[in-house]
Amino acid sequence: MEKILNYINGVLQEPSSKQYLDNYEPATGKVYSQVPDSDTQDVQQAIDAARAAFPAWSKTGLEERMMIMLKIADGIQNRFDEFVAAESKDNGKTLQLAAAMDIPRAISNFRFYASALQHFSAESHQTPGTAINYTLRQPIGVVGCISPWNLPLYLFSWKIAPALATGNCVVAKPSEITPYTAYLLSQVCIEAGLAKGVLNIIHGLGGKAGQAIIEHPEIKAISFTGGTETGKRIAATAAPMFKKLSLELGGKNPNLVFADCDFEETVKQSVRASFSNQGEICLCGSRIFIERSIYEKFKAAFVEQVKTLKVGDPNDAASNQGAIVSLAHKQKVLSYIQLATEEGGKILTGGHELKLEGRCADGYFIAPTVIEGLAYTCRTQQEEIFGPVVTLTPFDTEEEAITMANSVKYGLASSIWTNDLKRAHRIAEKIEAGIVWINCWLLRDLRTPFGGVKASGVGREGGFEAMKFFTEAKNICIKN
Ligand code: NDP
Repeated sequence: MEKILNYINGVLQEPSSKQYLDNYEPATGKVYSQVPDSDTQDVQQAIDAARAAFPAWSKTGLEERMMIMLKIADGIQNRFDEFVAAESKDNGKTLQLAAAMDIPRAISNFRFYASALQHFSAESHQTPGTAINYTLRQPIGVVGCISPWNLPLYLFSWKIAPALATGNCVVAKPSEITPYTAYLLSQVCIEAGLAKGVLNIIHGLGGKAGQAIIEHPEIKAISFTGGTETGKRIAATAAPMFKKLSLELGGKNPNLVFADCDFEETVKQSVRASFSNQGEICLCGSRIFIERSIYEKFKAAFVEQVKTLKVGDPNDAASNQGAIVSLAHKQKVLSYIQLATEEGGKILTGGHELKLEGRCADGYFIAPTVIEGLAYTCRTQQEEIFGPVVTLTPFDTEEEAITMANSVKYGLASSIWTNDLKRAHRIAEKIEAGIVWINCWLLRDLRTPFGGVKASGVGREGGFEAMKFFTEAKNICIKN
């Protein structure tokens, strides 16, 4: 069976323990490769390599740094189909989605930061008649990047690219549930001629390899995307060590539908926002609040469209939804559907797992599920499910909609559907979220700040925000 390898000091190598974990294909429920079960020894080697590489990499000319990052992007592009197949097989997402979103966006991340590093600049401040201050933006040193399983290469590259662009060396860990495209990326980095030690990729468990990265005193900054509970643990370890922290955590995003919206488009995009990637996107609009006057009409149209979604083999071009990422996650999602019925929810469609035939007979599939009749304060409407489950709730007034939207501990993203521009602006100001989409969902511009408030995280990624995170600002004051 194929063994995935760590990428340390420019070479692919086995974990020092020689221990491996099983890597499952969610669509079949079968083990198809082995992931290194790395430990502190591997992390130490990676950090040593990164420290050794830092002096040269941090002084590499901007054009040279840009060219190597473009080569990495081209390397992914040249092996596009292989990356797409690997992402789909590892995560359970459909081939179409991996080809339309994950892999193109990972390529864009490298291209974007390759170009951004040429334009990143620091401020200067004149104190009239007295002094001039200028700011140096210096790379931090060795940084840790840890990412989740839902958008594996896309989120991994969203961290690695700005960290490298600003002259840092990186020790990165993908989720051990979806390691394969990170492994392919390490091959691409070797092919592209990235200097040894600049990027190191360690595979393994969060509590072991991940924790070893977080705890290490030489890791000066940590960029983490994952669950809120894990984020809390990471902050508890890293904060007393005064590490810089960027935490992109969970969400329970509201989708506010007003009677004056463009109805057809709102229904279509709300289905997309609910069920893309099996609902396993931190930005998914999992709570839909609908103005009461169109509630029944919206519900009927929404459920009708959801019923047309085909859940099937991710390799099948006709499938709209693939498999849930793991058996444990499938069970978690099903337990929330059970909870919803206990809390008095009415299941309008779905509400159960699906058994497919043939190759996918043992895979992890759940029917897209729509629930109504739940109080907005109940657990189903307050906790992150992170699967193909969405709730519908009517509202009477704008104020009520805002209260319901802001009632959760999370504050990542939101959507507002209305043709009343004044109302859209008014609500956008009041919504507690890092991102507000008006008449759209997941429309992406790489220059914008990305991140959440409340339990959805600390700090922002994207554009120059990430480059600021991965640099230390040093003010230099020169007296006239
Ligand atoms: P987890 O928090 O379980 O894991 C995320 C990563 O952290 C994995 O690589 C994991 O490794 C690792 N990890 C776990 N424990 C530790 C530790 N103690 N120290 C260091 N690393 C650790 O999240 P999931 O992978 O389950 O991803 C789903 C979550 O991610 C959802 O809550 C979702 O909302 C959130 N998310 C947030 C996004 C955002 O931008 N705000 C975007 C995408 C997802 P391992 O896999 O081995 O446990």
